[in-house]
Amino acid sequence: MIPLPLSRIAELAGGVVTGLPPDGPEPVVRGPVVIDSREAGPGALFAALPGERADGHDFAPAALAGGASAVLAARPVDGPAVVVPDVQEALGLLARGVLAGLPDAVVTGVTGSAGKTSTKDLIAQVIERSGPTIAPVGSFNNEIGLPLTALRADEGTRHLVLEMGARGVGHIAYLCGIARPRIGVVLNVGSAHLGEFGGKAAVAQAKGEMVEALPAGGTAVLNADDPLVASMASRTVAGVVTFGRSADATVRAEDESLDDAGRPRFTLVTPEGKAPVALRLAGGHMVPNALAAAAVARAAGMGVEDVADALSQAGPRSRWRMEVTDRADGVTVINDAYNANPESTRAALDVLAHLARGRRAFVVLGEMAELGDTSVAEHVKIGQHVARSGVAGLVLVGDAAAPVAEGAAQVGSWTGELVQVDDVGAAVTALRERLRPQDVVLVKGSRVVGLERVAEALLSGG
Ligand code: ATP
Ligand code: MG
Repeated sequence: MIPLPLSRIAELAGGVVTGLPPDGPEPVVRGPVVIDSREAGPGALFAALPGERADGHDFAPAALAGGASAVLAARPVDGPAVVVPDVQEALGLLARGVLAGLPDAVVTGVTGSAGKTSTKDLIAQVIERSGPTIAPVGSFNNEIGLPLTALRADEGTRHLVLEMGARGVGHIAYLCGIARPRIGVVLNVGSAHLGEFGGKAAVAQAKGEMVEALPAGGTAVLNADDPLVASMASRTVAGVVTFGRSADATVRAEDESLDDAGRPRFTLVTPEGKAPVALRLAGGHMVPNALAAAAVARAAGMGVEDVADALSQAGPRSRWRMEVTDRADGVTVINDAYNANPESTRAALDVLAHLARGRRAFVVLGEMAELGDTSVAEHVKIGQHVARSGVAGLVLVGDAAAPVAEGAAQVGSWTGELVQVDDVGAAVTALRERLRPQDVVLVKGSRVVGLERVAEALLSGG
C-alpha cells in the first residue's frame, strides 16, 4: 500500500479528520486497510463497517490498542479517525483515488457465473512472471473485498487482478467504477445466483457491465463458447479477444485430454504460436479458465511458451475447489465443497467419473443454493446425472437437496444406494460405514452447507 497521511485519506474518501491531539504529528497509514480489528497492527487503517450482528465502531478501541494508525468511521471515535458519511462507500472512493495515482498498475477484472476465483488464481500465477502482481486469496469480490485488495497496490505494482461478483444489475458497474479495469474477462453466464437476478438475460446484462466499463485501448476477454458472453462484443469500445474450444476463438485449446488424475492436457493455440500445457488442477472445466488466463497474459504482452509453462506450474491457491487427495488406504477424496451450481456440479461429476474408472464412486451432495424458480428442476437433473453415471452411493445432506433423490429415482437402471441425512455428522458416519479401500468420493454443495467438514473428516479420521 502507498503510505497515506490522514488528511489525504480524508480528501480521497470525502471525509474529515477527527481525534488528533492538538500538536502531534499527523498519523500516516502504511497499510493494510482492514475490517477486522484483530488484524489491525501498526500502520493499519481500521474501517469500522456496520455488521449484521456487531457494529465495527465498537471495535475501534481494540484496533487502536493493537497499533492501528487510525479508524475510517461514520462518527468520531476515541482516537484518530477519518469520519465519512458511509464507510463502505468511502472504501471505494479511497481505492479509486489510490489507483488513479498508479497508472503503471494494469487492472484485470474477472467476472462470470462460475470459475472467477479459479481463473483469477490462474491469471495471477501466470502474469506475476511479467511483473509484481496483486490478487486476493479467496473470492474477495464484492464492494468491500475489492477495494481492500486494490488498496494493497503501490508504485511497484504492475498487475492487479480483481474478482468481481454480482448479485444484481449495477454491481459490476460499481466495482468497475472503483477499479477501472483495462482488461476485462467474462467467463460464462450460468445459473449461479439466478434467484437474485430472475433470469439468464438479466445475468448477462449484469456481467456485461464489465465490458462496458473498459476503455478504448483496453481488452475484453470473452468466452467464444458461451453465446451470451460472445455477444457482449457489441457492448464494448475495447478490443475483443475470444477464448474457448471454438475453432474461431483467438486463444484456444487443441488436442484436449485428461490424465489419470483428471487433470487436463492440451495444446494452447494463439495467433502467435502453440505450446503444450499440462494443468495441475483437476477437471475439464479448468480448460476455459486456463484459456482465459492465457488471453489475459497475451494482452499483457507475454509469449505463448512462457504462458504455457506458467499455466503448467500453477497450483491451487484458494481452498476447497476440486482438491483431490488420496488416503493411505487408496480412497480418493475430491473436496469441491466451496460452492455448487448446476454447471460446476456437472463438471465435478465428470471428474469423479474419470477418476472412478474401475473403482466404486460415492457422491455427497448438499443443496445448490440461490437457484430461484429453477431450483427443484435443476436438482432433479443433477440426480439423473448422478444415477446415469452409475455411482455406488449417493449421500444427500439436508432437506433442500431432496429433489436430487427424485431425479436419481427416475433412472430405472441405477442400482446404487441412496442415503439421505440431516447434517454433516450423519454424512460422515454414513460414509465411514460404507467406504472401502480404493473408493472415490466427491463432496460438493453450496457454501451454506459447509460440506468441506465431510471431506476433512474423511481425510483426518479415515
Ligand atoms: P463465487 O461466485 O462463489 O465466488 P467463483 O465464480 O469464484 O464462485 P470458483 O470458486 O472458481 O468460482 O469455482 C466455484 C465452483 O465452480 C467450483 O466447484 C469449481 O470447480 C467450479 N468451476 C470452476 N470453473 C468453472 C467453469 N469454467 N465452469 C463451470 N464450473 C467451474
Ligand atoms: Mg469466487
